[in-house]
Formats: sequence, C-alpha cells, structure tokens
Amino acid sequence: MKTNLQPVVNDQKSGLASRYELYQGDLPDNLALGNVLAIDTEFMGLNVFRDRLCLLQIYDGAGKVHMVQFAPGVINAPNVKKLMADTSREKMFFYARGDMRWIGHYVGVIPENVYCLKIASRIARTYTQQHDLEDVSRHVLGVKISKEQQSTDWGAPVLTPAQLDYAANDVLHLHPMREKLAAMMQSEGREEIAQGLFKCLPAVVRADLAGWGSEDLFAYHVPRPT
Ligand code: MN
Repeated sequence: MKTNLQPVVNDQKSGLASRYELYQGDLPDNLALGNVLAIDTEFMGLNVFRDRLCLLQIYDGAGKVHMVQFAPGVINAPNVKKLMADTSREKMFFYARGDMRWIGHYVGVIPENVYCLKIASRIARTYTQQHDLEDVSRHVLGVKISKEQQSTDWGAPVLTPAQLDYAANDVLHLHPMREKLAAMMQSEGREEIAQGLFKCLPAVVRADLAGWGSEDLFAYHVPRPT
C-alpha cells in the first residue's frame, strides 16, 4: 500500500509567532479548548527521574497553540493538571508513552483517554519501518517538520524564536495526521487493535513510573541478573 506523496511544504521559515501563546508556570484560568487536544512536551533529557519537564504544548486544532514553560523546581500547575485529568477530552500525542511519563511524574496526573500517533502509524503503515514524527509528517501529510532543534537546551530561562516555532510545529499537524492514519487503519480493519493499545497506555506508564520502564512485562523470557 502506498500513499500519495504531496509537495513538501516548509512552514518553518515563515515564523510561527502568530500561531502560539507562551505562558509561564501554568495555563491561564478558563481557557476555552476543544475536545481533541494535540499535546507535546519538551524536557531536559531522556531520563524522566533525572531530566525535568521544561515545556508543554497544547493545540485543539483551531486557533493558537498554548505553550507553558516551567522553571526549575516543583511544578504546581493546577490548570494544566485539571486539563490532563479531564477524561472527557481526548489527549493525542505523537509518542504518548514518553510525554505521559513526564506529565505523570511532573504534573502529577497520568492522562487517560489518549491517542498515540506513533502506534497508529505502526499499525496503519506496516509497509515501512519509518515512524518518526518527521517521517510520518512527510509521508502521510506532505509536511516537512524540521528536527533541527531536537537537541536544544529546553531548560534555558528564555527560549529562542526558533525553539518556540519548533515546539509549536510539533503539535500543529497532529489533527490532520490522526485523520489520515485513522482512515488507513479503518480501511484495513485495524482500528480496534490500536484503540485497545491506547487503553493500555495509562497502565504501561504507571508501571514505567513505578520502576518497570526498562522491562518488557509482556515478554515470556525474563532477563536474569548475570
Ligand atoms: Mn516536541
């Protein structure tokens, strides 16, 4: 199965400042958001227990991307926490297990009612091994997402326009991506498989944060200490 490769559009150059709002420490009170939220986070490194949460981006598919920057220290963000705990809204991530670990550990709630676009891509696009955000954006949407800022210092007290553009861009394309992947899964009768996996994600993340993150608890063979 092949998808149509559309012309590659690079909207990085235009500057995305008009597409987002940046807040410090928490979301504002009474922010009106839709029912399907695209969410991404940026953190200091890949170890959730060592590397703090620096930025959280939320986009409901219309209007602006809402981004919250967190200073070092304990995070107390009641509005973010309330939104993450709101099971009536679907929270969509590119690699949900990663973002959910950071949100669980630092915001204090493991989101439920979640959708993982990376799992959706793996279930829908079994003709390829390329399932990074960059690959899926390019091949499924025809949108080029730059990964230039991936290894950047997200803990900086003032984030650069390039960092903020990059962060906003990571959530701006997730709604149409979900539509495409869902349609592909549906036509192959695979949606139920993906939905079942999404339902397991909060349990997987709960085990990750309790110390089982590096073990495959579904595997038959149990690694023994050598
Ligand atoms: Mn990101």
